[in-house]
Amino acid sequence: MTPLRQVRLADGSHVPCLGQGTWRMGEDRGRRKAEIESLRLGIELGLGVIDTAEMYGDGTSEELVAEAIAGVRDEVYLVTKVLPSNATRSGIPAACAHSLKRLKVEQIDLYLLHWRGGTPLAETVEAFDALQSKGLIRHWGVSNFDVDDMCDFAGLARPGACMTDQVLYNLEYRGIEHDLIPYSVEHGIPLMAYSPVGQGGKLLRSPALAGVAQRHQATPAQVAVAWTLRLPNVISIPKAGDVAHLRENAAAASLVLTQEDLAELDRAFAPPSRKVPLAML
Ligand code: NDP
Repeated sequence: MTPLRQVRLADGSHVPCLGQGTWRMGEDRGRRKAEIESLRLGIELGLGVIDTAEMYGDGTSEELVAEAIAGVRDEVYLVTKVLPSNATRSGIPAACAHSLKRLKVEQIDLYLLHWRGGTPLAETVEAFDALQSKGLIRHWGVSNFDVDDMCDFAGLARPGACMTDQVLYNLEYRGIEHDLIPYSVEHGIPLMAYSPVGQGGKLLRSPALAGVAQRHQATPAQVAVAWTLRLPNVISIPKAGDVAHLRENAAAASLVLTQEDLAELDRAFAPPSRKVPLAML
């Protein structure tokens, strides 16, 4: 497999453009073995960005990730998230300690605020900075932040301190193209696209996707992933608990969509013509 395109982060480090989600992993004991196998194969294939959260299965996903990255931790850019209810001066260090323990690592690569809650952003930023100074997290960022949220906290954080905004982005949810994507490009903050294959639901049954997929001898899921990867500052994190899905998604990184494909997809899934409030799951 050709090496994956790398996305540059604000501090000059790079991560692969394609990673792996883990929401709902570890919740069904019968699927656990296959999920670990899938994550490990993904790491082998270069999909080293692994995304989890303290919320997922109340820590079950982090525990499963610990098992999957054992022995290959250095090949992984490990992302986890703190709940807004824990995002306070005293709550963040405690939540981080629990995540580190479940993940069985000494440092989290990227620690995200899962969504904006009631805690003043200045307090969260201060707590993230303190964790960074102690070496417990390498980077921090946010999730489910719309442009106005990004503007609110921009003055509170050091320039370049926020590494990403992880948001819902797939053909069915294109609202961020109107303003958040231009904002992220202007400020050098890559976006992380979650649910890129629409959670395996009706998006994958779209006739337009099927048509494009057929031209490339690909699958609709591969077209959906490749579509998110057409933008240079997007990191896509499909979740695959099944090895066949994982292989398919990994191969999507080398699928280049043509202008004709993109126009056809635009006709079926119109890009936004005005501001659309940020959608989230
Ligand atoms: P995805 O769009 O990644 O879809 C995952 C679903 O699609 C699974 O059921 C999976 O099945 C199936 N699937 C994956 N690949 C294929 C394929 N090639 N063909 C057919 N079906 C496929 O949705 P998620 O919501 O899981 O999003 C990805 C990740 O983003 C999450 O796992 C999580 O880490 C993160 N996320 C973050 C959020 C946030 O608020 N910050 C919110 C939501 C997600 P199977 O498992 O059987 O392979």
